[in-house]
Amino acid sequence: MSSSDVREVIIIGGGPAGYTAALYTARANMKPLAFEGFNWGGQLMITSEVENYPGYPEGVMGPEMMTQFRGQAERFGAEFVTDDVTKVDFSERPFRVWVGDDEFRAETVIVATGANARQIGLESEEKLQGRGVSYCATCDAAFFRDKVVVVVGGGDTAMEEATFLTRFASHVYLVHRRDEFRASPIMVDRAQRDEKIEFVLNSAVVEVLGVEGNMMTGVRLRDTKTGEERDLPADGLFVAIGHDPTTALFLDALDHDENGYLVTVPGTSQTNIPGVFAVGDVQDHVYRQAVTAAGSGCMGALDAERFLAAQHQAAAAAKA
Ligand code: NAP
Repeated sequence: MSSSDVREVIIIGGGPAGYTAALYTARANMKPLAFEGFNWGGQLMITSEVENYPGYPEGVMGPEMMTQFRGQAERFGAEFVTDDVTKVDFSERPFRVWVGDDEFRAETVIVATGANARQIGLESEEKLQGRGVSYCATCDAAFFRDKVVVVVGGGDTAMEEATFLTRFASHVYLVHRRDEFRASPIMVDRAQRDEKIEFVLNSAVVEVLGVEGNMMTGVRLRDTKTGEERDLPADGLFVAIGHDPTTALFLDALDHDENGYLVTVPGTSQTNIPGVFAVGDVQDHVYRQAVTAAGSGCMGALDAERFLAAQHQAAAAAKA
């Protein structure tokens, strides 16, 4: 691929935010070049049915929705590279982005690399994703009406998800590897007082059961103090052990918080470098929804478009 032209915009990331930014910049005639990543589609590729994205009244499978997002952007001329960006240089404009030895340049960059829910790291967990194993209670709780579920984690997310799940599930086990919590006391207290929630402490999930039948049937727990193991029957497992933003490439260049999330000027997608924008979960650890990421991607596209227009205007005024 040619790398000598300076593009108007490069988008890094291929989830709801990146694809929406690609759609809007393509329709604004900015001819976006989008590095969607080797694992394009983002977190929606490991979810089950998406029932909360407006416009899909019957629900839609995550991967199918991402294929449609991508296709819609492509229809207006967005160009995709299914590869991971390996290096960036935002120290001067045009900004530079590399995939291996190939260098690409652009007047603006929209970073939409998202975040990943941390996984426990079990083979059985991976096999049963979308078949009982979930990483988002807001997305999937409704599939567990009157079912028994396990939530893993001891932080605010685990407490919040366990409490939210009680609206649907008949019983919620909250499994945590220690007997002390990272979560704020008020959140722990709320969960402890909920009669549907049962705390299982000093316990780690060492296996998700049900791989043979392709549907989760329970979890195997190991007592972290005695090493003793036991099986706990359950229909769902919500892994709530934190998220990691995909920001390793940008930490030197862009302002970020202590957890690595990129910082933007409130109400905009502007980072600390004019012309570099951050959208979606890479800068949002609060909402983390496909629809909010898509909205944020739209903001990034409009911000990039306005930034370029202002640059062109300033250049024209300087010439006159
Ligand atoms: P977190 O605070 O980092 O907590 C992660 C929890 O998962 C910890 O209890 C940790 O156990 C456990 N864990 C990590 N790796 C594990 C593994 N491999 N196996 C088993 N357990 C594991 O993450 P979070 O709960 O997602 O919260 C992230 C941030 O968002 C926090 O700052 C939190 O306050 C904030 N938040 C706020 C709210 C709210 O205020 N409404 C809601 C959600 C999140 P250890 O404690 O043993 O390390």
